[in-house]
Amino acid sequence: MTQFDNSYARLPKEFHTRIAPELSPAPEVMLWNAPLAEALGVSDWDAPMLAGNVIPEGADPIAQVYAGHQFGGWSPQLGDGRAVLLGEVLTEDGRFDIHLKGAGRTPYSRNGDGRAWIGPVLREYIVSEFMHAAGVPTTRALAALRTGARVQRERAYPGGLLVRIASSHIRVGTFQYFTARGDEASVKILTDHVRARHYPQAKDTLELYAEIVKAQARLIAKWMGLGFVHGVMNTDNMAVSGETIDYGPCAFIDGYSPKAVYSSIDQFGRYAYEQQPSIAHWNLAQLGSCFVPQMEEELGGQHKAIDALTEVLNAFPEAYQAEWRAVFGAKLGIADPNEADLPLIQDLLGLMAKDGADFTNTFRGLLDGSARDWMLDREAFDAWTPRWEARRSEAWQEIIAKASPTVIPRNHRIEEAIQAALEGDDRKAERLARVLSNPFDLAEDDQDLTHPPTEDQMVHKTFCGT
Ligand code: AMP
Ligand code: MG
Repeated sequence: MTQFDNSYARLPKEFHTRIAPELSPAPEVMLWNAPLAEALGVSDWDAPMLAGNVIPEGADPIAQVYAGHQFGGWSPQLGDGRAVLLGEVLTEDGRFDIHLKGAGRTPYSRNGDGRAWIGPVLREYIVSEFMHAAGVPTTRALAALRTGARVQRERAYPGGLLVRIASSHIRVGTFQYFTARGDEASVKILTDHVRARHYPQAKDTLELYAEIVKAQARLIAKWMGLGFVHGVMNTDNMAVSGETIDYGPCAFIDGYSPKAVYSSIDQFGRYAYEQQPSIAHWNLAQLGSCFVPQMEEELGGQHKAIDALTEVLNAFPEAYQAEWRAVFGAKLGIADPNEADLPLIQDLLGLMAKDGADFTNTFRGLLDGSARDWMLDREAFDAWTPRWEARRSEAWQEIIAKASPTVIPRNHRIEEAIQAALEGDDRKAERLARVLSNPFDLAEDDQDLTHPPTEDQMVHKTFCGT
């Protein structure tokens, strides 16, 4: 029996709207995450329940309200426009939201239809489960469904629904929503909720903020280590839990370029690969400003509050650098990387960028000597190699084998799986999901998934297209 406890639905009415998911005409499971279902105690849920046609006993479905900066521009009211939070389940591992993305219109849908099509649903399923398997904090995917509805975008597509699991769906933009309305009482309630739920070790608001800053520094460094470009790092797409959330036009880098951008709506490269840490820092500044009024009360004065929050915010770059160094040090097989190792790491990245070397295969190829094959300027790589050999740890092979996956969800493979699914064949999507759930250890039969795209397979742009 699934055990529900809907703590967010119990918050005051300003936080959400009670709403049932819209009926899906003919729900059908495309991808199913059996181990996760088991952990959540929902193994017996069938397609109608996963789609929200049948509400499980104990659930209290709501749409959550939030606001956000989108590409730097302020939107005072967003919210779950195409998703319903079915409820929170309690498990041995803690409390988890069960969230139905693509569940129909809500009061926050604005002009949207509240629906998703199967393409973005499959992408989010595959990528989020890969991120989890690669050790990156993330929302997870319990199931990808066909709804049986048609969804109109640039053409009609089969409707899809993602059953998403998260430790919560509270965003930087959730705080901003109440702050912008001058509703300090709600900011305080939200702060207490987040502290109890995610950071019980934090003694006060300042410590809570410091924990959130640290969690983001850790998260973004992990993204960078996989060549991940989120694509829409708006403040409404940043979870205060430190989990990756809202996979839209995201992509992984094939041939390395620090300026990589894939999203069709990111014209100016605001959310390019190399911008991600500074954007996270900017988003965290927005969050910090939401804490000013309550800190003022706690510390007795606005200046004191701003100074204290600024100090925490200013710790982000250094915290991020330390996390980044640990991530990339491990990718070079260095157990205890320090400041002095930065040139070694940067120089390799510089060579990779100059040659557009495949990010994943070069790093993994350090294990078996194949890294050199991905370089054009082999002389430069050969000059770099002895410096690396002199520095790497004794257990370098074990370290690299755990730090650099052999296989990632390459954009062209995801596209290929989506195209097949549009023709009713889910086997490619199933294969990707299966292989990517164990990305450090690849069977001989699956080696083809490590190949970078050929010129005509290359995906240059990804679309939100939800
Ligand atoms: P995103 O940045 O894609 O996470 O979405 C930004 C906002 O647009 C969120 O408030 C979503 O709920 C809303 N939204 C996106 N797609 C739809 C849709 N098809 N129908 C209604 N709302 C949507
Ligand atoms: Mg979003």
